[in-house]
Amino acid sequence: MRPIGIFGGTFDPIHCGHLRTAFELWQELQLAEVRFLPAGNPPHRDQIYANAELRLRMVEAAVADQPGFVVDDREVRRGGMSYSVDTLGELRAEQPARSLCLLLGMDAFLGLPHWHRWRELLGLAHIVVAHRPGWKAPKRGPLGELLVDYGTGTVRDLHERPAGRVYVRAVTQLEISSTELRALLAAGRDPHYLVPDQVRQIILETRCYAPPRGSRTSGRTTGEPA
Ligand code: ATP
Repeated sequence: MRPIGIFGGTFDPIHCGHLRTAFELWQELQLAEVRFLPAGNPPHRDQIYANAELRLRMVEAAVADQPGFVVDDREVRRGGMSYSVDTLGELRAEQPARSLCLLLGMDAFLGLPHWHRWRELLGLAHIVVAHRPGWKAPKRGPLGELLVDYGTGTVRDLHERPAGRVYVRAVTQLEISSTELRALLAAGRDPHYLVPDQVRQIILETRCYAPPRGSRTSGRTTGEPA
């Protein structure tokens, strides 16, 4: 049985950088599926902009047409903090022998030592790190050591064992972030081509990232020239 990719995030909102990365990893690592898990209540976030139900709805809309992409809403349903170690523990209990690959962007990987019980993650899953613009793999510190001790350059290792290896993979670099998207939307600009059309539609309908009505820039997300 091929590995399952686990792609967690705040997805506030999901964008084409997330989707392209997931797609390339799905194809190149020959994953059975990529499971998107929007965080209900992500740790290390001062503020969330769209509520969990809406972020979940945008993720569902974004992946609906892509075979191999599925949405798992357990972190939204679970309540409390969305710790990856808890989620992976649940998935491991459901799939005792299956290879599980936790998919992370390099920026998320660099923050790993701040995650709750992070040293337990490799006992539950492999970690696959996708290069993101401007980030390099660490050579020193706990993550440098992790790469020396558990790093592999071989996709086969991810298929042959259920967990325990770290694999770093370059992906096409789309310099998009949810932070920049929210800023663009707050400035009344159109997110066309940065997010899937279905997500753009939800954003425009709900105005979840829009400036307050009546502000100087409102109305520009209609796609009409400013
Ligand atoms: P924010 O700007 O609000 O921090 P984000 O764009 O980084 O959001 P998250 O939901 O925090 O999105 O990220 C979920 C996962 O996707 C993380 O592992 C992150 O590293 C990865 N990721 C985010 N943006 C990209 C991108 N453009 N290319 C590849 N991976 C990305």
